Amino acid sequence: MISEYDLHSHSTASDGALSPAELVRQAAACGVKNLALTDHDTTAGLAEARATAEENGITLISGIELSVTWQQRCIHILGLNIDPDYAPLQEGIEGLRRMRIARAVEMGARLQKKGIENAYQGALQLAGEGMITRTHFARFLVDHGYADSFQNAFDRFLGAGKPGFVATRWTDLEEAIGWINGAGGTAVVAHPLRYKLSGAWLRRLLDAFKQGGGVGIEIVCGSSSSNDIRCAADAARRFDLLGSVGSDYHSPEKPWTQLGRLPPLPNSITPIWSVWPRHGH
Ligand code: AMP
Ligand code: MN
Ligand code: MN
Ligand code: MN
Repeated sequence: MISEYDLHSHSTASDGALSPAELVRQAAACGVKNLALTDHDTTAGLAEARATAEENGITLISGIELSVTWQQRCIHILGLNIDPDYAPLQEGIEGLRRMRIARAVEMGARLQKKGIENAYQGALQLAGEGMITRTHFARFLVDHGYADSFQNAFDRFLGAGKPGFVATRWTDLEEAIGWINGAGGTAVVAHPLRYKLSGAWLRRLLDAFKQGGGVGIEIVCGSSSSNDIRCAADAARRFDLLGSVGSDYHSPEKPWTQLGRLPPLPNSITPIWSVWPRHGH
């Protein structure tokens, strides 16, 4: 069985390879019936995605993936079924855009000290109008022969503690959840097992997330093993969280995150979409 939902994906509005329209067409062709576009810290791709979804007979759920700083860690919080026009959310996004540009300039300066010229300009060009991310730097480093793969670019230059890494204070957890709830959406902890938290720290995170008004956790991710799904489902039951399903699709080059391949949620889990009244489930 394959889930008809994919509630985590990226387009060229952030670090995805496909335009919003291409992404939606690809998802439709792969059998996805309900797709959330969740670009990093931006809603700029949603209008195009929505128009294309209508043409292709699939449901587009407006989303965003916010970078959050919690206890010195970077955590990703999905806002699903949001009203992208909610002013405090858009003001927050504007602040994040400025932070991302300042961070990218600093990354370029640090990489230059390692003898890598023009990394900021190169990454900016790859990002185009979209939100600039480390993925664009990785692409630049691979294209110019400084790294032989994305993984290698992160391992050598872009990962935490590496020469091109700039520690960043993102949005606070409570503030991000506040923007999402204010926009009428539901907040979901993205890929909970990817932060390499101990059991105790994961419980602390989920406690703080619930206290702040968060309601969901991603249980089925593009890279989940059946053991990962069991582990995330246990956490959902323990914290009484709703479950989400999302591939985190970025590009055809990342074969472990494909559209239209996700297993369904375990039966014991209440789906996040059950609380979306307009969604008709
Ligand atoms: P940023 O939000 O600018 O820090 O960029 C983070 C993005 O980089 C993530 O959303 C991933 O898409 C990508 N990324 C992080 N780590 C890796 C990795 N080891 N290999 C490939 N892509 C990565
Ligand atoms: Mn990404
Ligand atoms: Mn993420
Ligand atoms: Mn993502």
